[in-house]
Amino acid sequence: MPKRILITGAAGFLGSHLCDRFWEEGFEVIGLDNFSTGSPDNIAHLFGRPRFTFLQYDVTNFIHVPGPLDYILHFASPASPADYLRIPIQTLKVGALGTHKCLGLARAKGATILLASTSEVYGDPLVHPQPESYWGNVNPIGLRGVYDEAKRFMEAMAMAYHRTHGVSIRIARIFNTYGPRMRLDDGRVLPNFIGQALRNEPLTVYGDGSQTRSFCYVDDLVEGIFRLLLHTDYPYPVNLGNPEEVSILQFAREVLELIPTSRSTIEFRPLPEDDPKVRRPDIRLAHKLLGWYPQVSRREGLQRSIAYFKEKLSSVPS
Ligand code: UDP
Repeated sequence: MPKRILITGAAGFLGSHLCDRFWEEGFEVIGLDNFSTGSPDNIAHLFGRPRFTFLQYDVTNFIHVPGPLDYILHFASPASPADYLRIPIQTLKVGALGTHKCLGLARAKGATILLASTSEVYGDPLVHPQPESYWGNVNPIGLRGVYDEAKRFMEAMAMAYHRTHGVSIRIARIFNTYGPRMRLDDGRVLPNFIGQALRNEPLTVYGDGSQTRSFCYVDDLVEGIFRLLLHTDYPYPVNLGNPEEVSILQFAREVLELIPTSRSTIEFRPLPEDDPKVRRPDIRLAHKLLGWYPQVSRREGLQRSIAYFKEKLSSVPS
């Protein structure tokens, strides 16, 4: 019998890539999504295949899954600042109530559960790069607090289920990840810049562009999640991301360099509230536990993403 895995947020950017990976590895995949930020397009190719079931469902409600369950990946959540500012209460609910439902299900089924946490638990970090031992610098009542605190609650809840009920848990602290299936209009920097460059619109750099991020290509992230779930039983948070750090202004220049036909310029816009000034994962723990290290360079990952967004734009009437 194939192992059964439930993936929440299955129609999202990361969730859909995880559905693909576990399906290819021979798992029976059950996907849940309410399409609040995900899209059926991301999983359309899986419909009708054996070993794949999809349910349109809001995981903040009681989750009933008939039969046994070996693993749960809780990836349902808005992940782009623009999205979680637009739907702040849903963001809090899926991180808090949705996590509670998933942990309850894991307990009932004796399943191992991996929760998608985030580098946002470090807030605007005062320690750089960020190791898992850093407790963070989060403004709980700021606009980003809805996401940061939901994910911090998620971690606390997971640890409580582990300590109290012995549930087998994994916590992935995921840093900025990019690649095909991000929504062009999700507001994050990479789809914004690529979409703008392809449409010959100005690239909108927030602030002076000196803030930094470290971008991980989606295939590397999926490999890290796969190994964290299956190659260890380590229950504490593990950073997953690419430690190659770049300023946002430099990132805009790289996007323009890779789209030489673009006539776009760079324009500066106000920096959003509580926008972290630096971000770079310390991934020594993931390397030690999982033998994992990102393989795809930013140049290569950007090229693959540009090809995807080009295709997307050419199929959408302007
Ligand atoms: N950003 C930008 N222009 C954009 C979108 C984002 O300069 O059009 C900046 C944003 O202010 C932040 C960084 O790019 O400093 C990454 O933003 P994103 O929304 O991708 O994710 P975050 O890492 O902030 O969660």
